[in-house]
Amino acid sequence: MSTYEDEKVIILIAEDSPTQAEELKFLLEENGYRVAAAPNGREALASARKEAPTLIISDVVMPEMDGFEFCREIKADKALQTIPVLLLTSLASPNDVIQGLESGADFFLRKPYDERHLLSRIDYVLSNRTLQAGARARGELEIVFAGQRHSIRSERQQILDLLISTYEEAVRINEELIEANKELEVQNREIERSSRFKDEFLSTMSHELRTPLNAVLGFSELLADSVYGPLSDRQRKYVEKIHNAGLHLLRLINDVLDLSRIEAGYLNIVLASVALDALVNDVLSLLKPLADKKGITLSASCPVGLVVHADPTRLQQILTNLVGNAIKFTPDGGQVDVAVHRQEESIRTEVRDTGPGIPAAEQKLIFESFYRAGQLRDREGTGLGLAIAKKLVEAHRGEFGLESEAGKGSCFYFSLPVEIPSQPAATMSANPIQ
Ligand code: ADP
Repeated sequence: MSTYEDEKVIILIAEDSPTQAEELKFLLEENGYRVAAAPNGREALASARKEAPTLIISDVVMPEMDGFEFCREIKADKALQTIPVLLLTSLASPNDVIQGLESGADFFLRKPYDERHLLSRIDYVLSNRTLQAGARARGELEIVFAGQRHSIRSERQQILDLLISTYEEAVRINEELIEANKELEVQNREIERSSRFKDEFLSTMSHELRTPLNAVLGFSELLADSVYGPLSDRQRKYVEKIHNAGLHLLRLINDVLDLSRIEAGYLNIVLASVALDALVNDVLSLLKPLADKKGITLSASCPVGLVVHADPTRLQQILTNLVGNAIKFTPDGGQVDVAVHRQEESIRTEVRDTGPGIPAAEQKLIFESFYRAGQLRDREGTGLGLAIAKKLVEAHRGEFGLESEAGKGSCFYFSLPVEIPSQPAATMSANPIQ
């Protein structure tokens, strides 16, 4: 389709991106057109003046002379003004259309263009150009748009073509949107299905894994207690190993399930008034045997009668995790202090230790699931405790943080709002996994 009425068609491309120019040139040449290319409006104008093309395809944003100005120059030049100009633009705003009209452009095509659409548009322009040239009438049209006066030099046929091509683009965009919507619906259904599958999987796993594990733990304990007869030292050592490995696995299963449940939006926060001094005392009494084993001093300071609105079980879980970590990572003979302060709008709980501290580079990483700092990996743990604690604090619309320096101990803290809005950040589960 390179000739119209036996005449050789030349298409001039003005495009500053060498790759895009090359792609377009290839497409047009492949379809039998002769092509001239220029990297900006100024050079394209010079090229058109040297050898008038049959059609111009111009980008809008170009250095030296942009597509609008280039088009204006073409339309102001008596020798070139009948050459149809097709502008490649984003058509992002009505201003693009106005500027296109003002520059006298004949057609718009949205970038990135569809190749088949571009070729059919070129075919249309070339077939109609004699008709258009004959129908042109003189005269300018003044319009004011967005507070600016524009004088439109395009003729009726041009305006019509421009509006039709704009409308066609709008229809095409709409069709693309309808397609995209359909795809989204399919994806949504798929996500819902996977989410249901994940929920079922979690609740099955939680049951199926814990039941046999409880048997492993129970029987290894009975063996270790010599209920089934005395054990040799070696047998006792191995039975203890089985028991400890079982306990580790149970912690891991519980943590993984807890985290998945939180991430799946199944966190069930039940708010109540919690007396903080009692909670701190409970947690410290629970962990005292561990601290005593390492000769670590535990201390607490909390104003009597300070109450926070939170889920008591989850709050205990957060504090137990922080104090447990502090004891675990602090060398023998160290110190762990828990301090609770009332601030203006919140209540801040700090757990400070005299342990190894956490280098700045690792401070963000330790809140990620399964991250455990290199030199501390030999301690018992799953690497999930802080990730869970942080999410629990956030579910209470609180803030979780850490102040630490390598070699100078750590201070993990969390602040909870004094009054938590009736709807906490976590969603309430209609069907919490047991
Ligand atoms: P776990 O304790 O099971 O390893 P956590 O998520 O609770 O997992 O902690 C992640 C990592 O953060 C720990 O492995 C450790 O490297 C570091 N960490 C946590 N608390 C402390 C602390 N008080 N002092 C030094 N490092 C800590």
